[in-house]
Formats: sequence, C-alpha cells, structure tokens
Amino acid sequence: MTKWTVDTLMEAIIKSTEALSGHPFKEASKEQIYKGICEIVKLEVNRQWEKTNRKYNNKQPKQVYYLSMEFLIGGLLKSNLLNQNMLHICNEALTKLEFSPDEIYKQERDPGLGNGGLGRLAACFLDSMASLNYPGHGFGIRYRYGLFEQRLINGYQTELPDYWLDNPYPWEWKKDDEAVELEFGGTVQMERDNNGELVFQYINTDKVRAVPYDIPILGYQNEVVNTLRLWSAEPISSREQREFNQYYHQLDHHHSIDQISGFLYPDDSSEEGKLLRIKQQYFLVAASLKNIISNFKSNMKKSLKHLPKKAVIQINDTHPTLAIPEMLRLLMDEEGFGWDDAWEITTNIFAYTNHTIMSEALEKWPVDMIRNLLPRIYMIIDEINERFCQGLWFNQPQLRDQIPQLAVIADNQIHMARLAIISSFSVNGVAKLHTEILKTQEMKEFNQLFPKRFNNKTNGITHRRWLLMVNPKLSELITETISPAWILRPRELTHLIRHIKDQPLLDRLNQIKRENKIELAKFIQQSTGILVDDHSIFDVQIKRLHEYKRQLLNIFHVIYLYNELKDTPSLDITPRTFIFAAKAAPSYYFAKEVIKLINTVADIVNYDPSIKGKLKVVFLENYNVSLAEKIIPAVDLSEQISTAGKEASGTGNMKMMMNGALTIGTLDGANIEMKDLVNRSNIFLFGLTADQVQEYYHNGDYQATEIYQTDERLTQIMHQIRDGFFGQEFNDIYYHLLSSNDPYFILKDFDDYVETHQFVDQTYRNSNKWLSKSLVNIAHSGKFSSDRTIREYATSIWKL
Ligand SMILES: *Cc1c(COP(=O)(O)O)cnc(C)c1O
Repeated sequence: MTKWTVDTLMEAIIKSTEALSGHPFKEASKEQIYKGICEIVKLEVNRQWEKTNRKYNNKQPKQVYYLSMEFLIGGLLKSNLLNQNMLHICNEALTKLEFSPDEIYKQERDPGLGNGGLGRLAACFLDSMASLNYPGHGFGIRYRYGLFEQRLINGYQTELPDYWLDNPYPWEWKKDDEAVELEFGGTVQMERDNNGELVFQYINTDKVRAVPYDIPILGYQNEVVNTLRLWSAEPISSREQREFNQYYHQLDHHHSIDQISGFLYPDDSSEEGKLLRIKQQYFLVAASLKNIISNFKSNMKKSLKHLPKKAVIQINDTHPTLAIPEMLRLLMDEEGFGWDDAWEITTNIFAYTNHTIMSEALEKWPVDMIRNLLPRIYMIIDEINERFCQGLWFNQPQLRDQIPQLAVIADNQIHMARLAIISSFSVNGVAKLHTEILKTQEMKEFNQLFPKRFNNKTNGITHRRWLLMVNPKLSELITETISPAWILRPRELTHLIRHIKDQPLLDRLNQIKRENKIELAKFIQQSTGILVDDHSIFDVQIKRLHEYKRQLLNIFHVIYLYNELKDTPSLDITPRTFIFAAKAAPSYYFAKEVIKLINTVADIVNYDPSIKGKLKVVFLENYNVSLAEKIIPAVDLSEQISTAGKEASGTGNMKMMMNGALTIGTLDGANIEMKDLVNRSNIFLFGLTADQVQEYYHNGDYQATEIYQTDERLTQIMHQIRDGFFGQEFNDIYYHLLSSNDPYFILKDFDDYVETHQFVDQTYRNSNKWLSKSLVNIAHSGKFSSDRTIREYATSIWKL
C-alpha cells in the first residue's frame, strides 16, 4: 500500500530536511528533521485530500458537519504516518539515521484547542468518521492561544500562555479565498418590500472576516482525507471600512476583532457568561453555516428546502446552539423562506449532544447581552420561544405551571439547552446512565413532549491512537495472538478471551506492562526527579481537576495509607505509585488547593525514609494529549471515582481499560457499561449509586460531620488538614467540606473506597489473577472504540 521503503524514505528525509534548512543533513536539528518529514507526508496527504474532495463533489453524499468549540487533536505527525502506513518504515529510517523516532515526533507541539473530554471526543469522532469512510467534517475555532500551559511552582499551579503558533503549524492550510464576512451588533430595521412582505435590514453593524484554516483528517489506510476547518477572525479587508468603523464606533475595532479567536476559555465545566465567549460562539456558527450553505448551493443547484437530505449538523454540547437561530435567519432574511418552511428545514438539520447535567455547566445568557450583540438573532429566539410556549399553553394544559422551567427565555435569561432540545430532531446523551437521567429527571418533560427525540450514544475513543499508536508492544502481542483483524474491527478483541489461561501470553502481557512502566518511570525521574519503583502498582488518576471527579478522595486514601505506615512501619502492603495529572480552571480556587495538597503530601511521603519507599506520589504537570499518551500504556489501576451520577461518560476510563489497566470506580458514566461487559469480578466497584446520591439530596438526611467524627481514620486526616500537618492553608478544605455538607460524598464513600483498595492490593499479589483480569478488560474494550459510536450516530441519527 505504501510506495516507500526504508531506504527511499531515508533518502527523502535527508533531501527534504536539507531543502528546508539550507544546511547539510548532519547539521540539521531535530526540529528541522521533524519538519522535513512533515513535508513528505503532506505531499501524500494533499493528493488524497484532493481525491476525496473530488469524490464528494461528484457523488454528492450527505455530509456530516460536527460543530464544536473545542478539538483536542493532539500530535498529528505520528498518527498521520500510522494512517499512511508509513510509521514502521519511518521509525526504521530514523533509527538508521541514528535518531530515536520519538525524539523527532515530540518536536511537534500539541494544539491545545480543547479543555478535556469534550474536545478530545470531537477529535476521536473525526478520526473514526474518516476511517469509516463517512463524509464528516469538523468546524471549530483556531484560537491563537490554546489551553494554558500548567507549571507547578512550589506545588502551586501557575498558568503560562500556550502560544502554539509560535512556529508555523505544519498541518494547516490557510484558505484565504474561502473567507466569509460576518456581522455583529447594529440595529434591525423592518421595512415592507414591493410585495408588502416584511424585510429585515441590519445597519451600523461591526463586520468581521472569518478566514478558514484547514487541517486534513486522515482515515486509517483508506486514502480518505476529511477536513477540520478552523476559523480565524480578521478585520475586514478594506482599510477604508476599518478606519470608518474606528471613527464611527470610537473603538479600536482592529483589536476587538483579533480577540474573537484570541484564546480558548479555560473552564471545563462551568459557564462564565462573558461577552467575548458569546462572540466566539456566534463567530463559529455564522461562518460555518455560510460555508455549509454555499457548498450546497454551488454543488446542488437546488432549493435549500432539500438541504436536510444533504447535510446534518451535530452540535457538541450547547456551545454552538446559536447555529439554530442563525440558520432560521439565513433562510428567512437572505433566502426568502417564510417561518414555517424555515423552521421545517432547520429542525431537520440539527442534532444536539448533551454532555452534562451539572447546573453550573448549563449555558444561560442574559437577554440583554444577546439583544445588544445579535439583535436579529434575539428576535428569532424570542419567536421560537413564543411559539413553543403558546403550544404548551394550548396543547399541554397539564404543563401550564411548568412553563417557566421549560421556556427558552425565562428570568431574563436564554436557556441554551432548552433552545437546542426544541429545535433539533435528535438529542443524545453520552452513556446509558447519563441518557436515562436526562430522560427521567433533568429533561423529563421534554422527553414526554418529544419521546422519539431522545437517544443514547455511549462515547468512544479511537483505538488507533489510543492502542495501536501509543502501545506498539501490546498491539503486536494482540496481533500475534488473534490476527490483525482487530485493527479494522476492534470488537474482535474479544477473541482474546479464549487465551485467558495461556500462561506464555500472560507472561508477555506482564513483561510489556513492566517495560511500559519502566519507560514511564524514566520520564517521571527526568521530569520530577522522583524515583519510582516499577514493581509497585501504578495507580493513576489523570483528568481535569474537579470536585465531582474527587481527586480529594484519592489523596485522602494516600494520607490514610501514610498514617497507617507511620503507625506500623512493618505493615505488609504492596508498594504503590500514585500518579496524578490535572489542570484546574485558573479561577477555581478549591481545585487549585487540591493540587497544592497533592504536591504537599507528595513532598512528605516521597522523602520520608521510615516508610521505605512503599508509597510514592507523583504529580505530572501540564496534562494534555501527549502526556496522556505517555502515561496510559503504563497504568495498572485506573481511578474513575466520580460521585455517581455526575460524570456523563468519561473517556479516560476507556483509554486505560484498552491498555490493560483494571478500574477502580463508581457506578457512573461509562464505568457501568464497562462493568456490564467484563462482569463485576473484573472491575473494582465501590461507593454510592446514582440513585442513593439522589435519595440523599432529596431527603437531606446526609450528615458529613457525623461520618468524620465516627470514623477515626477520617478524624485523623481531617484534623491533619485543619491543624496544619500539611501546612496552614489547607484548613479551607476542611471547612469547605463540612460547611457545604460534603456535596460530593467524599467522606461517605471513603470507607468503601479504602476497603476496595485493600482488595486491589490482595488481587495484585496474585500476578496471574491480575493479568487475566487485565486481559479480560482489553478483550472487552473494543466496544469503546469510537468506530462503534460513530456507526451508531451514522445509522440512527445522521441516516447516512
Ligand atoms: C481523554 C482525555 C480527557 C478526558 O478524561 P476523563 O477521565 O474522561 O475526564 C481529558 N484530557 C485529555 C488530554 C484526554 O486525553
């Protein structure tokens, strides 16, 4: 399939690097070699990209447009090489040139255009759409500054700007000629045209140019190249207009436009309601819709009433929901449709994915803000709301009392999830439990009104990046054992079950995990100076820092073990290395305190000789995709310990399962579906269920203080925190937990968590038992390939 041999590629790398750098190859830096390889791959990609676009133009298949404020794509050189079937050859070529391949690949900077799970999901979906040969494309924003870079200084998180465009990014193609112009602000004038129809005109608007930068999305060895189009905001082209605007509006127009695609908001799960954020959202959707409509018009030469047959738009959470009123605006004001036809078209195009039910994350915008910034859009939202509320009043008298809880506009706020639900043909949750909670609790009335609309699509991850690419040794072992069919059909991993008693296989599985752990241990030593025992259990929690994810429960367990060892130095426990990585939102005080606490505990535990190295605590800074790729192949125990009912799905859980980690977790999100597959005996479950959590909230009969006072282990830990054993500042954590009555049930679940960890310890001692559980987990992880997820979207939502 590839025309390359090791020798021809070596030759090409030398040539390409010399041409770029202008120096002989032996003087080239790693970065220049990295760029040289990119150029070679780009030539191949370009050819296939054009071919794919030609095919789409000729065949006119229905296109999927995935709108998302975030795409956390990670490094592309290595995955593009893999997808081009060039990775092995390139590794060999580089080795022959006396370079370590990973030294070259790591020259690439992660575009940090996402916060965490939601953005990473979008990236996995693009990968699966291309690999399954679906015409699916992403639309997003090319933020000049991605998510901040995290540095630990004295154990505290500090944030540095992520200027990822410092060096030109090799994987983007600027398409100046496809730029579009957008309008903000101004006022709306209504007039009658010659036929007496109302027409809307906008005057005194601020104009912005949206310039697309395209990133190729390669399918796995299938010559398909789809497109991720990221928009960048620029001033409109005419200098006269710019000067006029500056004069007219008395503001530095140029500067304010730059800001629209200036930076990514760094808060994962709460909404700030800032003007710049809504500008970003409108910027994304308005530019993308212009693009989608002009594609349709130039290819189809048909009325836009046929658009739903040729395009479907999936909106990733509510962030791109303004696309709905924007579509209505375009159809009515620019294309001449009446309300009813425009509504019919729009509601057959949009499908909405809900990612959370946590109230602080549900988007609401002040009416005034939208009315001032987007006056025509506001009128349309108001009309949607009027019609919806009238429908309720006349047709659903039993719901009359609840109209304020269902209306799009209520309390002077616009409720984006409600807008998305009533204007989409599909609303999906991201794991079975999450969808069930949406249908029966959070969005119960909407589900009764639109029972066919709600559906579940359990999240997934691309097994190509998260197994084949990051864990070549394990991939090789799997292929030798069950043939390479799993690469195209990850469900075939279940064939591994037959080998559960195959001792040589278990031994090799063990050996591979050990080697991966040794590699991670080296990285830990280089980056933190901490020496870790590669025979210890690598117990890992890597994800955004949030109270509901309960990193605090994890560190409480560490403190408990430390206290035990101080009491009884001879205590027989399996050595453990606790590994954390997590960014906190810069304004999230409590989360940052938890980071400092983890680092403080680490400093005490790691350098206390009396516990004889049985415990180590490591916090790796700047969690991002490339760090995840280093850690995940080396995980023994995956911590998925959110308060039940709070984590919509999780995807980190799937990545680690696929790499042979066992999970300690609550019955939350996709953990439940993992349990259903592997059986309770192959996952370490603990804690309250989502129903029990609901009960406590409902009845108000949980007493955090009582638990901490009766459980001596907790009394000790809480007093250590209050009284300055780890430093004075942590008494905030103590007071926060008790004064808010421990809303995430950390104290409540502690006992069960500790006991379950004791069971983990016992299980790990029996190496074969552990390894066969690990194998069972790998075997059932194929279900969590995003290929399965995307097939479900394609058949049951997108109707491709
Ligand atoms: C997978 C991933 C996440 C999501 O992790 P969860 O444990 O599901 O919250 C976040 N950040 C990065 C960099 C990831 O790769």
